[in-house]
Amino acid sequence: MKINIIGAGVAGLSAGCYLQMNGFETEIFERHTTFGGLCTSWQRGGYTFESGLQWLLGSGRSNPFYQLWSELIDMDSIRFVHHDVRMEIEVTDNTDIFGDKVFHLYTNLEQLERYLLSIAPEDEASIKKLVHTMRRMQSYEIPPKIRVVPQLLPWYRKTGFIRYLPLLFFLHRVKRETNFTFAEKLKNPFLKEAFRLFFDGDELPLLILTMPLAFSDLKGTGYPIGGSVGFTGHIEQKYLELGGKIRYRAEVEKIVVKNNQATGLLLKTGEVIQSDITISAADWNFTLFNALEGKYVNRTILELRSHEKLKVYYSVFMVSLGVAAGFANKPHFLRFPLADTLISPDGSQYTRMEAHINNYDPTLAPEGKTAISISFYTKNANYWINLRLADYEKYLVEKQDFSRSIIDLADAKFGGIKEHIEVIDVATPATFHRYTNNSKGSVQGWLPGKNIIAQSPVKIELPGLKDFYLAGHWTIPGGGLPVAIKSARDVSQIICHRKKVPFRIRPHPP
Ligand SMILES: Cc1cc2nc3c(=O)[nH]c(=O)nc-3n(C[C@H](O)[C@H](O)[C@H](O)COP(=O)(O)OP(=O)(O)OC[C@H]3O[C@@H](n4cnc5c(N)ncnc54)[C@H](O)[C@@H]3O)c2cc1C
Repeated sequence: MKINIIGAGVAGLSAGCYLQMNGFETEIFERHTTFGGLCTSWQRGGYTFESGLQWLLGSGRSNPFYQLWSELIDMDSIRFVHHDVRMEIEVTDNTDIFGDKVFHLYTNLEQLERYLLSIAPEDEASIKKLVHTMRRMQSYEIPPKIRVVPQLLPWYRKTGFIRYLPLLFFLHRVKRETNFTFAEKLKNPFLKEAFRLFFDGDELPLLILTMPLAFSDLKGTGYPIGGSVGFTGHIEQKYLELGGKIRYRAEVEKIVVKNNQATGLLLKTGEVIQSDITISAADWNFTLFNALEGKYVNRTILELRSHEKLKVYYSVFMVSLGVAAGFANKPHFLRFPLADTLISPDGSQYTRMEAHINNYDPTLAPEGKTAISISFYTKNANYWINLRLADYEKYLVEKQDFSRSIIDLADAKFGGIKEHIEVIDVATPATFHRYTNNSKGSVQGWLPGKNIIAQSPVKIELPGLKDFYLAGHWTIPGGGLPVAIKSARDVSQIICHRKKVPFRIRPHPP
């Protein structure tokens, strides 16, 4: 049985691995020249610049996703960095805490609690409750297999599902708290501002912060030395070892449908490749409205398309710098205020900046040198995407001017950057869109809604279409790598179940 997969990102490669393990013949079609999709790195002048892997959920044995990654990768062969401080946030408030204005988000819960209490003893009750919530999260078994179970095993709903009820009740209780509502409860102005700034001034469910922190405390959210390409390279290698085939520079134009059954792919070159089953691990909007011409939709899908149900995750304007200097004692991830509002050509206004100083991975820069990246999230990615198409010269000028202002600001903040720059690489939202085809250059699919534990409105099958499935970061709001692997595994399990093939994992050779 032949299965065609669109996209060699983490989701497409993972689906390929799981299906090859279970005896299916798969082939991946990737429009780019290499694997990884958004989870990639690129080399310029001796430096490696990173896009999509600051932290991996499941980097340590304590986290259930470790088991999933281990099914595809020999996790012991990767060295993970587990930072003591997840990020540092410089507040704008004049309150001076121990001589500095920087809030340190410690990953060790005991240390974090001590630190928060030392800053704001007046907020003891809220702080203790916050830390207690994170400890409670650690005590539940968060099942990576929960989504697929009800579809496969009807009896499970009555028996096994009960195991997870305490977790669901718990999440139900805490799901409505946002960083803003929590900040409201605090008396200490420094802490209040730090919490308001966690998501760069946006209001998002606090669970997006507390859940990873709970896992970080257990060393479950590390950064793999070697970065994105090193990591995804392991999955590509596994796929090829399992007998999978990848065709690069193979852009899919249409999904061929006969009698409401997906029967193959039409490539941009005009070639048609037949299959029994098709999986799209590519952009949701492209798949449904271009490749399938909007023929398999329902009301929910149309509401998703018009962004009534969910908003698309941000895109990024990212300036990566290769700097011939050490930066050993600088924070690896700092968000700080700008003296003046920075206005992007796309209309976004920024009062803060985010810098990643990759001084913890020696593989990214020659000895004594550092790869630094500065990112600005934007909701107006289409400005860059459309400008690049409409007026390439103007696009280049605006990209260069904006990045110059950013470099000036970074230099003013850290010092020692401008005179030591060896390489400058700028990725705009148009770059992310061009290389990965993600709508609006989204870096993680959909933004989570306010109710973060609500069932995903995105279904992995489409109404009226047989032998077709979706996988990848668009299938569960919030996206990211855990969603990529989990959706791929779910789809593979469902296909096995339907084809009466017992789902099995082929262990790594010793
Ligand atoms: C700056 C940045 C930081 C991030 N940080 C983290 C992090 O720290 N932790 C985390 O978990 N996640 C992070 N992410 C998100 C994570 O990288 C993505 O959510 C994940 O890689 C998505 O994988 P995917 O396979 O679902 O989709 P994609 O990576 O988008 O892969 C889709 C693939 O399909 C291909 N494709 C598309 N259309 C076609 C077509 N028509 N024909 C053929 N091929 C096609 C694309 O070229 C691409 O290779 C980050 C992302 C970015 C950009």
